[in-house]
Amino acid sequence: MIDGRTRVVGILGNPIEETLSPALHNAAFDHLALNWRYLPFLVQAAGLGEAVRAIRALNMAGVNVTMPFKEDVIEFLDEVDVVGEAVASVNTIVNHGGVLKGHNTDAAGFVRALIEDGDRDVAGGRGLIMGAGGAARAVAYGLAEAGAEALTIVNRTGDQAERAVGLLKGRFPALETEAASANGLDLGAGDIDIVVNATPLGKEDLKGIPSSVMEAISNKSVVVDLTTTPAVTAFLKAAVARGAKVVGGRSMLVFQGALAFALWTGREAPIDVMRKAIEDA
Ligand code: NAP
Repeated sequence: MIDGRTRVVGILGNPIEETLSPALHNAAFDHLALNWRYLPFLVQAAGLGEAVRAIRALNMAGVNVTMPFKEDVIEFLDEVDVVGEAVASVNTIVNHGGVLKGHNTDAAGFVRALIEDGDRDVAGGRGLIMGAGGAARAVAYGLAEAGAEALTIVNRTGDQAERAVGLLKGRFPALETEAASANGLDLGAGDIDIVVNATPLGKEDLKGIPSSVMEAISNKSVVVDLTTTPAVTAFLKAAVARGAKVVGGRSMLVFQGALAFALWTGREAPIDVMRKAIEDA
């Protein structure tokens, strides 16, 4: 029941129609009998500042932030956590009595998904990340923090890959890094332990995915696709055909959501309930 004590959280994005986050969080609130509700908010770029100020004005507990606002939202916040600052991407805002603090739970959520569902220890591993946007930068940070030895970032726009590597190097000077454009990628077969797709490519077919990325996938790799719909992408199917272990984007969605849930409510999130809520979505 919604009443005068209901705490409100939600998600700011554009488009927002396909988001799975309301199902995930509302199922968790119901399960723990918390008087909280999670709503989707379609925001126009010109209205982003107003939307963020509304968190304060409406005494909301916080929000998630999704595409395309994870970087642009930072200028409207009072504080940003270490990871959000390092990767210039915030996916969670917490309202501390009018002080809005931005967090990045994508990085830690990704690593938990990799460990729990990919059954993979990151320490000493070599990773290949396709994409250099906010999600790719968070994944790279998570892998570096968890002890990866080397990361290659390949992106359509080479400058963005360079920027991502520059941000990483500043924080993890010992990490071996390489930035590559799609055509300039030269990988030794079998050298890569973890392959991550952090682009919208590969949902229905493999169009646009560099052949060197596919060739880097072997039966020693774990492959993660951040795409959440479909749950099993063409890219993941192709990785399975090459003998790899695969993890879908819904796994990361659950773990980044669980961390946001804990930041807002101070309660541990019911992971299995969240998983089930989006299983059939
Ligand atoms: P973003 O900041 O907009 O970055 C998008 C990335 O994809 C950029 O590297 C971009 O390359 C690349 N890209 C886009 N269209 C492309 C195309 N046609 N060909 C080649 N490359 C293309 O977005 P993001 O926030 O990083 O999100 C990336 C993906 O991860 C999205 O699909 C998002 O839904 C997913 N995601 C999932 C989760 C989860 O919990 N599962 C969390 C966050 C994000 P350029 O630099 O060349 O433009």
